[in-house]
Amino acid sequence: MKNLLPLPAFADNYIWMMYDAQRAVVVDPGDAEPVLQALRSMGLPLEAILVTHHHGDHVGGVNALREATGATVYGPATEPMPEPLIRLSGGDTLQVLGLTFSVLDVPGHTAGHIAYYCADMEGEPLLLCGDTLFSGGCGRLFEGTPTQMQASLDTLAALPGNTRVCCAHEYTLSNLKFARALEPHNAALLQYITECESRRRADQPTLPSRIAIERDINPFLRTRVATVAQAAHGFDALIDPREPAAVLAALRQWKNEFR
Ligand SMILES: [Zn+2]
Ligand SMILES: [Zn+2]
Repeated sequence: MKNLLPLPAFADNYIWMMYDAQRAVVVDPGDAEPVLQALRSMGLPLEAILVTHHHGDHVGGVNALREATGATVYGPATEPMPEPLIRLSGGDTLQVLGLTFSVLDVPGHTAGHIAYYCADMEGEPLLLCGDTLFSGGCGRLFEGTPTQMQASLDTLAALPGNTRVCCAHEYTLSNLKFARALEPHNAALLQYITECESRRRADQPTLPSRIAIERDINPFLRTRVATVAQAAHGFDALIDPREPAAVLAALRQWKNEFR
């Protein structure tokens, strides 16, 4: 039985832990301590560390965890990383936890950002997408272009609808507030907001999400939907609302300013 557990870290990060009866794997450990605590309480060794991109809140605990556990570290081919590690890029596969993960190139938030996709973990697909896709939103464009991010989000949106989406931050309610301003009549969105608000009130993560939900509610996966494109055009009249990457750029800028 393979299990999935989000370990909270810092203000709003999740370090995703996957484990079975024998071993554990973690993703983007910005801090070693919550991982070491979980390993101790479960009595499990750490087999591997998967990293999606180079930001400190995703790699800060890698060296300490490698030293404490001897885990193998995997990370993106083209970003500065705590060495030694096995570097991966789109099309590569890896075996951890007795499962096969494939690597997807998803540049935009950073230039070399990768995501990890498992087609079958306990009968359902699983996506570990770092800071590329959030529930109801997407990462800021620190290093990549809107065209790159649009292509990356298209790749993720094309995954099976039942794919569990493990994002690295609990940004959902803030993202959904913005999404509701764009699509106030989107029934699926309003329903999802109610669900996520009640989860947060109960101190539960809103994650993992599902690709099918994100397609219905996430404006950054809906840049070809007329309502969303027109709203983006209302924010920035200079963009062509038929150009998805231009819509995405306007939405991202608007979200940065949105309160
Ligand atoms: Zn980041
Ligand atoms: Zn982050």
